Amino acid sequence: MKVVLKHVDKEFPSKTKGADSVFAVKDFDFEFPEGKLVGLLGPSGCGKSTTLNLISGLLRPTKGEIFFDSIDMTNTPAEKRGVGLVFQNYALYPHLSVLNNILFPLQNLKGKDKLTKEEMLKRAHDAAELVEISHLLDRKPASLSGGQQQRVAIARALVKKPNVLLLDEPLSNLDARLRLQTREEIRRIQKETKVTTIFVTHDQDEAMSISDLIVVMNEGSIQQIGAPQEVYDNPKNLFVAKFLGIPPINVFDGEIRENSLYIGDEKITSFAYGKNTAVKIAIRPEGLIPSEDGVLSAKFSSVEVMGRDISVIAQHPASSGKIRAIVSSVNSQNICYDSVKFSVAENKLFVFDSESGERLLADKSQVQEGKSKSAGKPKTTKKKAQTK
Ligand code: ADP
Ligand code: MG
Repeated sequence: MKVVLKHVDKEFPSKTKGADSVFAVKDFDFEFPEGKLVGLLGPSGCGKSTTLNLISGLLRPTKGEIFFDSIDMTNTPAEKRGVGLVFQNYALYPHLSVLNNILFPLQNLKGKDKLTKEEMLKRAHDAAELVEISHLLDRKPASLSGGQQQRVAIARALVKKPNVLLLDEPLSNLDARLRLQTREEIRRIQKETKVTTIFVTHDQDEAMSISDLIVVMNEGSIQQIGAPQEVYDNPKNLFVAKFLGIPPINVFDGEIRENSLYIGDEKITSFAYGKNTAVKIAIRPEGLIPSEDGVLSAKFSSVEVMGRDISVIAQHPASSGKIRAIVSSVNSQNICYDSVKFSVAENKLFVFDSESGERLLADKSQVQEGKSKSAGKPKTTKKKAQTK
């Protein structure tokens, strides 16, 4: 079942008298595709839980509409929407066994949905098997690990065969190792059941690793939607570029001058843009490559060895923080422990408007023009000349 949000707003009245109301969600307009796992990703307070609660029916939108397939759910109460919910705190009943916790939602079914005792037990056992806790059914929640408790919560959410599974930071209470394991489990379960799933997290690594699609949010608004790799490789704005990626992207104050990108006095690369302007230049750590004839000079700070890779940490006056390059240990001999020069991988470099943060793209037609007028000599024309 697909979940459609049409221009949904959620406004909360302010708690203090006279202050402005809070727009927790602004113009959320997206169709969550059937049978996919979508990661809803953004910093704390950006409106993820509010969005999820609007879909579950725990909240009503201030404006806009919500559909499950073609059925208008905007004003349907939560218990009639057929959604399964899993929260950060597992919220299991402590006095009930695992089996009875899983059975609980089925025991409240009424009318045509009512099940026989045998049907209920079959469903509960199937759900327990799916999340691999069949051997724990007689235990009480207190005697289970965090990971096992979260599996029980997932089984309890799935036992009613929901149309939509909604998970709100389900891994946050688990330690690092269990978090990795459980997120793979969630992925497997989603693939097996093919239930439309929305997974809320502030952890970009988590969202990137298990989602078919990610929806990046900030301050109540959608910033970008796409396959994880697509969004990483093609961020639409500076917020998205900075939010995705560990270690984070390096950001420099730069300039477009005569169809070239400059950081300070150093020309980084050609960039046909037609107009001279101040910009933010962002380069992924894996796109800075120490090399003797590099285009960007920086002051060397330190080297961090992280097993397979080495992080070269440096300082540059055009960047407010430390800059970081990830190199394989093979490339590390080019680092002279004083200053360091980097060449730049062009597909790892992005240019943003310094005011709005929106991505600026080089104008391909300008490159062609430049070629005929032989102005600026962009790299692409050079390459073409060589192949002739
Ligand atoms: P997230 O889950 O991304 O951390 P939330 O959806 O919980 O963010 O909150 C988004 C914004 O809405 C925050 O500024 C939060 O303070 C505000 N908010 C959430 N719930 C309420 C509420 N019931 N009343 C007032 N403000 C709220
Ligand atoms: Mg939240």
